[in-house]
Amino acid sequence: MRSKLPKSNTTIFATMSDLAKRCNAINLSQGFPNYSSQPKLFDLVNRYMHEGFNQYAPLNGVETLRQVIAQKIGKLYQRKIDIDKEICITAGATQAVYTAIQMMVHPGDEVIIFDPAFDIYAPAVKMAGGKIVRIPTHYPNFDIDWDRVNDAINSKTQLIIINSPNNPTGKTLSPDDILALELIVKQNDLFILSDEVYEHMVFDGRKHHSILSSSILYNRSIVTFSFGKTFHNTGWKVGYAVGPDYLMSEFKKLHQFIVFSVNTPVQYALADYLLEEKHYNHLSEDYQTKRDQFLDLLQDTRFRFLPTNGTYFQLLDYAEISNLSDMEFAIELTQKHGIATIPLSPFYEKPTEQKLIRVCFAKTPDVLIAAAEKLCKI
Ligand code: GLN
Repeated sequence: MRSKLPKSNTTIFATMSDLAKRCNAINLSQGFPNYSSQPKLFDLVNRYMHEGFNQYAPLNGVETLRQVIAQKIGKLYQRKIDIDKEICITAGATQAVYTAIQMMVHPGDEVIIFDPAFDIYAPAVKMAGGKIVRIPTHYPNFDIDWDRVNDAINSKTQLIIINSPNNPTGKTLSPDDILALELIVKQNDLFILSDEVYEHMVFDGRKHHSILSSSILYNRSIVTFSFGKTFHNTGWKVGYAVGPDYLMSEFKKLHQFIVFSVNTPVQYALADYLLEEKHYNHLSEDYQTKRDQFLDLLQDTRFRFLPTNGTYFQLLDYAEISNLSDMEFAIELTQKHGIATIPLSPFYEKPTEQKLIRVCFAKTPDVLIAAAEKLCKI
């Protein structure tokens, strides 16, 4: 059979989590917390299952969940959303991203992404027959060079994919970035896909600048979110996409043939749980505390770092420690030192010279302390 993704292997996240398991290593690689959602959320799911909410949900999602999401968007991003036309609940943000790309990208279209880029965008574009155009951003600031973006845009450019807070760099878009993007959207006939799954993890007094807050951008965008990131249940695979009616109606045409609809009792439970702001408005503070505790513990290591701006990821530069490639170094760390991380190369088209690994600090203090002890010995 002819492969649709001849150059793709198993993702680095699955590979490193698997290696961590085999080596009995502390797993700071794949991004997931080692703690769970609150029992209250489990009780709600349980209750809705027992009450008989177990058949197909509407294809765009349970109405009460769409209502609560719209309220949240109104409050946080000052946008009024039509719950019947502008939201679709998805099987995680990955499915939302995939569906949006299949819907927007036609064979021959060009799609701009920024390196290092989360690994799901390029394969989805390839599956749609599109061409990826990669614009590099550089350590340590990872700023987007908007002049380069303007230079890259041509009549074939269909989509720009942005991801803020960014996985893996932790970079967050600034108001100036939003202005630059608005100018691009005004001057060119293209669309934006904005992956904002780490919206509630933004540090040091920064604010999350959502595409949803800009009318100019919103009218050309689909924005994706994730409950797994927000409520510590990445395995539940529930997220959502938001966008203007004319885009979301096309999105839903594809969505119905990809998954039709998403886990019903979980959606009802999430609706009740999301109603209370206290279930998510402390996250930035909590994760900043974790980041700071972990980085304090790493002060005496030979790793270099700039505190991450957002997400639950931190980049570490190991140039003073080893000349190995990032892939070799990450494997050696796991096998010899019992600590699994993610090398940065898989976020680029080709392996890079940079000596960077990514760690996930969404872990309980005991794990962060044990991990830091190991890293201090290297
Ligand atoms: N988003 C997570 C990460 O960046 C994991 C994604 C995955 O395993 N597909 O590590």
